[in-house]
Amino acid sequence: MALLQSITTHTAYIPGANNLGVILTGDGGAIAIDTGIDKETGRMVRRALDESGFRLRAIISTHHHADHIGGNDYLVRNLPDIVVYAPRLEAPFIEHPLLEPIYLALGASPPTALRTKWLMAKGVPVHHLIDSNRVEIAGVTLDIIALPGHSLGQIGVAFDGVCFAADGFFGPEVLAKHGIPYAHDVAAQLQSLDRLARRGEQWFVPGHGNVITRDDLNATLQINRHAIEQATSTIRDALAEPGNTLTVARRVQRAMGLSITGLPQYAIFVSAVSAHLSHLEALGAAMLTLTDEGPVWSSRS
Ligand SMILES: [Zn+2]
Repeated sequence: MALLQSITTHTAYIPGANNLGVILTGDGGAIAIDTGIDKETGRMVRRALDESGFRLRAIISTHHHADHIGGNDYLVRNLPDIVVYAPRLEAPFIEHPLLEPIYLALGASPPTALRTKWLMAKGVPVHHLIDSNRVEIAGVTLDIIALPGHSLGQIGVAFDGVCFAADGFFGPEVLAKHGIPYAHDVAAQLQSLDRLARRGEQWFVPGHGNVITRDDLNATLQINRHAIEQATSTIRDALAEPGNTLTVARRVQRAMGLSITGLPQYAIFVSAVSAHLSHLEALGAAMLTLTDEGPVWSSRS
């Protein structure tokens, strides 16, 4: 089976743990939407386009998470004249991937365990910042959809009846495996689901999960909304007794029955719990106070 799977005349994708989007420019050129976790996925993008006779012209990185930008370095080094596009707020992290383990390490120089390819790709220069709802690349005009929440400035890309939604939503089978859909800003994440619900494309490609049609979109977004709200609710319940962030995280982990197998996964989990705590604070349902034991979260309702 060919690596590159056609969706519509001018769109395709490379299915995998991370679906990689491809836009065909009509003159033999191609634009990659995300490049996977590492050099191998970068190489796969190159091979997929080679075997179908397309030439990579540009990369759009939807957000800075390592599993979306890990192939950038290989492609930029090995294919001439590729230009990299990224949202303005994501670009610094794409150029300097050490920033991700830094923020997961409370701003400190990160410990070795967080300097892994799962959290830290190789950086590339971003040539063009995306900060509007349209971008013209290699002669084609793409719709840009703001999908912040999962990450600070994540975008989706729509073209020729296909919406590449990155981690704006997850396949239900992926959600079932993870306790909390990773969030940076929960309110923004919920609003981004609403923004996706208003799209009229025929096909929707999540970063992780199966490609779905417009007919299945609302039900899928509803499952995502439910998973996010369920996480908020579990974290609210974990505040029945006051506790610091790590104590709350431990209660949530137990309540959800999550087995966390490594320090990178733990750091991401605590970060997501923290996003929900900030969300509860913004809703007036939680507060953070400094005590003799350090900062402690408590319920306000
Ligand atoms: Zn992500």
